[in-house]
Amino acid sequence: MLRKPYMRIPYTDVLAPPTVTPRSANTLRGAVAALHDFFAAPTPRGSPASALVLTGAGISVASGLADYRGTNGTYRVNKTYRPIYYSEFLQNHEARKRYWARSFLGWTTLHKAKPNAGHYAVKHLGDLGLVQKVITQNVDSFHPKAHPQIPTIELHGYLRALVCVSCHHELPRDVFQDELARLNPAWASFLQEIIASGALDTENPEERRKRGMRTNPDGDVDLPDAPYTTFRYPACPRCLAHPPKLTEGTRATVEVDTDGAWKSGSNAGILKPAVTMFGESIRGQTKIDADHAVEAADKLLVLGTSLATYSAWRLAKRAKDRGIPIAIVNLGGVRGEETFFTNLDALQKGAQGARIDMSTDALLPALVEELRLGARAQQAQESIDHSPEEHGASVFKDMMS
Ligand SMILES: [Zn+2]
Repeated sequence: MLRKPYMRIPYTDVLAPPTVTPRSANTLRGAVAALHDFFAAPTPRGSPASALVLTGAGISVASGLADYRGTNGTYRVNKTYRPIYYSEFLQNHEARKRYWARSFLGWTTLHKAKPNAGHYAVKHLGDLGLVQKVITQNVDSFHPKAHPQIPTIELHGYLRALVCVSCHHELPRDVFQDELARLNPAWASFLQEIIASGALDTENPEERRKRGMRTNPDGDVDLPDAPYTTFRYPACPRCLAHPPKLTEGTRATVEVDTDGAWKSGSNAGILKPAVTMFGESIRGQTKIDADHAVEAADKLLVLGTSLATYSAWRLAKRAKDRGIPIAIVNLGGVRGEETFFTNLDALQKGAQGARIDMSTDALLPALVEELRLGARAQQAQESIDHSPEEHGASVFKDMMS
């Protein structure tokens, strides 16, 4: 059987609207109750928790970043949006200029953006012992920022660094951004103008567009008619100092102009964002780590993603095949979601699975509040009983006895 490459490909088909499960989960209160049951249900091992969380662009919308399919999603707001493909980035100097010009302007927005209540709710679920690991498709670094104590697998990499396609050396984005500003003074002053216009001060995409700015989930800015051809970007400093050997054994050529900008006669030293670009395969170790996380999980909580990317969808499919409960919280349809909720008991209230058609930013903090109340009530009971706590995830101990 032909194995599919785990490549990041945009999926733009229209998704069927969701069927809310259990039906009572169509209000905030009902949705909180369903997720409460989802977490409370004991696993076959008899222990609670060990949920794996899988997130996508939807969880970062409240941080001011667009998602792909939401009301203000990139595919709806900007019908002509076409992400750059890895092969194009690799082969085409002009495409890289355009990419880096847009990215140069977009970085300030991303750099200023912060994790939101949804990310911190995941942290609190971890504090309660209910979440052990996170896999995110997002490249905005919000998960590791919000909950450094819960390991995060960044399935599609991260924008906080650059990686050299020749020597794989990483360079922090801040350093690279300063280099872009130095090499492109006219663009740097244009960026200052955008900042002064206040377009970066608002998290409302509508307002931002009015002030002349658009950003998409990969953090670049859409700027029609800008003179991209003049944009310059630096070469990998390591390859510049020590040109690597090419596969045929000859020494690579890395040439820069007098200011240090990569020149088109070069055949190495190209820096790319440390993200899996569209049309690029997921890093091998990342794929292995993600697979292991699904194998070790007792439950899967999917947040803010339509699972449109195959690399994410297959993780949920694997969880389904393993027979662990799955809860999906996403506003709008999810790719092939009907397969995730077959064989649930008609009367189950979330213990076997839940499908909630809501954004994460209101729901997750409400869930955490509910769970904390339960935990506090239980602690009070335990201090009366003088029974010391033995295990981490204690929130649901009373329900399981
Ligand atoms: Zn290099």
